[in-house]
Amino acid sequence: MLLNKILKASVRSGVRLHSSGAAAANAAASSGSHSSLGFSFEMTDQQKEFQQLARKFAREEIIPAAAAYDRSGEYPFPLIKKAWELGLMNSHIPQEYGGMGLSNFDSCLITEELAYGCTGVQTAIEANSLGQMPVILAGSDAQKKKYLGRMTEEPLMCAYCVTEPGAGSDVAGIKTRAVKMGDEYVVNGQKMWITNGGKANWYFLLARTNPDPKCPASKAFTGFILEADTPGVQAGRKEMNMGQRCSDTRGITFEDVRIPKENVLIAEGAGFKIAMGAFDNTRPPVAAGATGLAQRALTEATNYALERKTFGRVIAEHQAVSFLLAEMAMKVELARMAYQRAAWEVDQGRRNTYYASIAKAFAGDIANQVASDAVQIFGGNGFNSEYPVEKLMRDAKIYQIYEGTAQIQRLIVAREHLGRAQK
Ligand SMILES: Cc1cc2nc3c(=O)[nH]c(=O)nc-3n(C[C@H](O)[C@H](O)[C@H](O)COP(=O)(O)OP(=O)(O)OC[C@H]3O[C@@H](n4cnc5c(N)ncnc54)[C@H](O)[C@@H]3O)c2cc1C
Repeated sequence: MLLNKILKASVRSGVRLHSSGAAAANAAASSGSHSSLGFSFEMTDQQKEFQQLARKFAREEIIPAAAAYDRSGEYPFPLIKKAWELGLMNSHIPQEYGGMGLSNFDSCLITEELAYGCTGVQTAIEANSLGQMPVILAGSDAQKKKYLGRMTEEPLMCAYCVTEPGAGSDVAGIKTRAVKMGDEYVVNGQKMWITNGGKANWYFLLARTNPDPKCPASKAFTGFILEADTPGVQAGRKEMNMGQRCSDTRGITFEDVRIPKENVLIAEGAGFKIAMGAFDNTRPPVAAGATGLAQRALTEATNYALERKTFGRVIAEHQAVSFLLAEMAMKVELARMAYQRAAWEVDQGRRNTYYASIAKAFAGDIANQVASDAVQIFGGNGFNSEYPVEKLMRDAKIYQIYEGTAQIQRLIVAREHLGRAQK
């Protein structure tokens, strides 16, 4: 894996995996500490190499294939396999389980670049992180070895199986039931909108184990690891979505599915916190994906504005267009800072819920605004699938929906903000 080579070379040269700058990392490497290094916007040489590797892959492999995958809706497994071979996916699996153990910040740098190429491909890749995160955060050593370990040995997918036809934002409203019978749990129910649903080797599954409606959510649900080929698991048809069309989204039904008790994460009743806790780690990368899409829209619009002429001059010379580009650039820069802050906070071991929701909400919104503005700058061509920006506009919409809608992020930010104010 190329990324692994970069990692090893950096360790040999004394540069630490760190998100607060080259000078900081080098100083940290020599001092053995990086907690008092202050503020830096400079990336380490290693981070620049990760970014370059992902950028090259996006430019040379993803972009040339993206429009065809969008048209066919085919799962981009050849690209996923190459990304896996380069070490550009599963980057946060800890080193003791065969992964690279990258920080959230470093993983986000990669995600932004992949998203620049195609967010359908990036979402398929990122759904692995979402599925794995509950296991990384709450799995036992044996569970991690078994389920994370196998993903470092071959390019396998996994999925986060929580949403149901009747409950998305209101996670506590899910109805899938798991009933303990001897050394097993028997699961019945239905999930919906599961990314990698038909491609996963295993699922993180959230199910209700306490039937008492008065039982608080923090005790009523259990998180399981479920092998996808378990009898009774039935993945539905691939959904035809507005955008990110090569990503595999499906409903899944569970009929008397038996899960051994060894596959419970932490303990019965701990599932809700595990499922929700994963988002602090996965929302920064989702925001990074939205930023990558917005950056792509800005780049495409800028290049077009410097070529297309009206009234005897390139359209970039019309102030209305240049100001639109300026607004787009401002939004992209701020979205990038927001996801980097959110990722950095969680890497410091601090609760980053507030920052993660700010980043997810802001980047999701600006991806939509910037993609729409890019279509505007392309004029009639922007509305046509021969040009790249209409795809960006369709692909952007999901960033305001999955991993917590734009409204739910605002609820979280408001709760966190007011909670601080009241302290
Ligand atoms: C392509 C795609 C991929 C997905 N991938 C996954 C996956 O891998 N795993 C998974 O578990 N789920 C996945 N989801 C599900 C996704 O997370 C949910 O669709 C999302 O959380 C919204 O839930 P919902 O669709 O039930 O909408 P609802 O919860 O019914 O919301 C409908 C509308 O009401 C608003 N709303 C709801 N409650 C409130 C409130 N209290 N205050 C203000 N507004 C509110 C929402 O913001 C939204 O605008 C995916 C969805 C899609 C479309």
